[in-house]
Amino acid sequence: METYKNVYLCNEISEEMGHKYVCLHCRKSYSVGTGFIHFQEKKICPECLAPMTLLNEKFKAPRKDDTTQWEIVKLLVDNGFFYQSVLDPISGEKVPYPRTKRDAEAFIEKYKK
Ligand SMILES: [Zn+2]
Repeated sequence: METYKNVYLCNEISEEMGHKYVCLHCRKSYSVGTGFIHFQEKKICPECLAPMTLLNEKFKAPRKDDTTQWEIVKLLVDNGFFYQSVLDPISGEKVPYPRTKRDAEAFIEKYKK
């Protein structure tokens, strides 16, 4: 499951510069360099040993104790949103990532392929 996600991510965001590995369990993010070799590796969280999720560098980690924001992050990731750019199919403009759970649900409903 996690491996699949990472492979999917490589294709999605390989043109972008820089990424972050995130442990959704510990609510921590780790910056990654720009070398493509990094994306081939399966990263394990140094604290809880769970597989980490690779997110676009545009992702801004919420505070560790902001569980509401982390729930939104997890919801988005579970639905295939890795903080890559999302374009509105009608206007073609970049859509900002949601900040509330209700917005996140509407965002997923609208933009999930
Ligand atoms: Zn962890």
